[in-house]
Amino acid sequence: MNADLHCHSSVSDGTLEPEAVAARAKANGVELWALTDHDEVGGQQRARAAAQALGLPYLTGTEISVTFAGVTVHIVGLGFDASDARLTRGLAATRGGREARAREMSDELAKVGIVGAYEGALPFVGNPDLISRTHFARHLVESGVCSDTQEVFRRFLVEGKPGFVPHRWATLRDAVTWIGDAGGIAVVAHPARYKFTPTEEYALFTEFKALGGRGVEVVTGAHSAADALRYADTAREFDLLASRGSDFHSPEESRIDLGTLPPLPGGLTPVWEALTSQILAPG
Ligand code: AMP
Ligand code: MN
Ligand code: MN
Ligand code: MN
Repeated sequence: MNADLHCHSSVSDGTLEPEAVAARAKANGVELWALTDHDEVGGQQRARAAAQALGLPYLTGTEISVTFAGVTVHIVGLGFDASDARLTRGLAATRGGREARAREMSDELAKVGIVGAYEGALPFVGNPDLISRTHFARHLVESGVCSDTQEVFRRFLVEGKPGFVPHRWATLRDAVTWIGDAGGIAVVAHPARYKFTPTEEYALFTEFKALGGRGVEVVTGAHSAADALRYADTAREFDLLASRGSDFHSPEESRIDLGTLPPLPGGLTPVWEALTSQILAPG
């Protein structure tokens, strides 16, 4: 099954409108799709409707920013009720600090001679509630400070580099509870990206599981083949469902396009097998 259960539209920090992401998924052979905008379900109706019109089975999705052990961890939610009041309130609260953070990021960049970054990032922002580092990164590329967004995330906006502003997101408990109580499945996104020690990573999965978390991304844009095998082991060790998603943001920036990931390693239970009743089938 060519499932792609992680990607972004202009409702968060992707560059394509939800309808265009749907069309690209369909054209690339995706057989089950979820749009997972950061901290936001505002694109879900459009994504669903577009998928329906294209004959593309759909699951609701989001990617929630969480602070765990002082590190930002992303939790993907799949198959929930997007109108659930506690979830939508929780996501709104999670989005709440982004504006002030963005202004602080701009002040930090000004200290190293990059002035007006906030104003520069704004034209890239599709959703005023969701100004993100990605929008700053696009501005720094457009203004010639860096040659691509990868370079931005090496030189700026990350811990220890200019423009980084520590931020407190949702708690792991909140994110997992909001998703689960809305009828969905919580999934640890791209675990290889966090660079946790083995002890920290064990603590993350142990706590995630205890809170009701049920899945882990095994195959995703940021994972190497070795990472996929490693997190296949994690899925078996913690009895977690395995997910697969490109984390596509933009045709110009994303290394992995929608629907072009390798298959899940064998011996795992795909997360979509536990979500059959939540899949919106076309027709
Ligand atoms: P924010 O939610 O504002 O902290 O922004 C996080 C987003 O920045 C991620 O979802 C990615 O889209 C992007 N990002 C973070 N780190 C990197 C990286 N190393 N390379 C490319 N994009 C990144
Ligand atoms: Mn992003
Ligand atoms: Mn992420
Ligand atoms: Mn993502």
